[in-house]
Amino acid sequence: MEALGCQGYVHSTESMACLEGPGIRFLVFLSGCPSRCVYCENPDTWSTTAGSLCSVRSVLEKVRRTLPYMGMPPCPTSIDDLARECASRSDSSTTYRDMLLARDEAAEGPPPSRGGLSVSGGEPLTQHTFAASIMSACKRLWGMHTVLETTGRCSLPRVVYPEVLPWTDLVLLCIKGTRREKYESITRVSGGWDHMLSFLTTLHQMRKPWWCRYVVLPGHTDSREDVDALLELCVEHGKGLVTEEQPQAPSERTLGRVECLAYHNLGEFKWHELNEPYPLADVPQCNHDDVRRVCEWIREGLRSHGMGDVAVTGDD
Ligand code: SF4
Repeated sequence: MEALGCQGYVHSTESMACLEGPGIRFLVFLSGCPSRCVYCENPDTWSTTAGSLCSVRSVLEKVRRTLPYMGMPPCPTSIDDLARECASRSDSSTTYRDMLLARDEAAEGPPPSRGGLSVSGGEPLTQHTFAASIMSACKRLWGMHTVLETTGRCSLPRVVYPEVLPWTDLVLLCIKGTRREKYESITRVSGGWDHMLSFLTTLHQMRKPWWCRYVVLPGHTDSREDVDALLELCVEHGKGLVTEEQPQAPSERTLGRVECLAYHNLGEFKWHELNEPYPLADVPQCNHDDVRRVCEWIREGLRSHGMGDVAVTGDD
């Protein structure tokens, strides 16, 4: 696996993340983001060279040490040995994966729940080859569940999406705004809206499971009109493919969850450290009632489209 030597910039990692996908996860924040969102809480990830230059191998080494946190057995084999073993078997399985399967088979009741790897940023598609290499290696070596948190923005969608998405089990798509002007007033760089639509279309065509992440920003994204437009995107791209021969069934649904995130200004100090003016200095933080109202509208809208089984979180 020559991809083990592939290098990229990692802003930081977290070994016990629990908000970026199901279960306990190893979270990698990749450096670089072309957007300049008004509420960004991690402007220190914007530079493509923020953090440290790392190889895929060195990221995997960190992942290997934390496998038991994710509900997986320890892996005593080195990354290089595991990769060699994987390459020498025609079915890509390894003794580690055999061990995992044997453990699941021996377990009483349902298999133990597992977390996995989540790749975020910045915008992880800025370093698409590095992101794809980390995810593909985690899948091939350990059969790990992978999550990509993204806005879908990148320089060459036709190249980047097919490179990354085959290794992604679940996408957390950050929808910054629900109409072009609104989206671009929040991200402050043009082009992101078209990329998001193109990404949503690709997810729909690939039937890729995704969760919607939506920041509730008072006065900007919390009106009834904003939420109705969000619902339109979610229904059109998340309901599943409907054909005359194959009527809609919940199992075809690609949208699994809508997560409403309350705007807060906890990252404001980082803007000051970077000598960047904070654009929302006069905007109040979002309160629980704002989020509850938005969540209720979303639930109501999803139910009216026969998608009441999609989880809506944020006000719990
Ligand atoms: S996409 Fe994320 S990292 Fe990039 S500016 Fe927006 S909030 Fe910040």
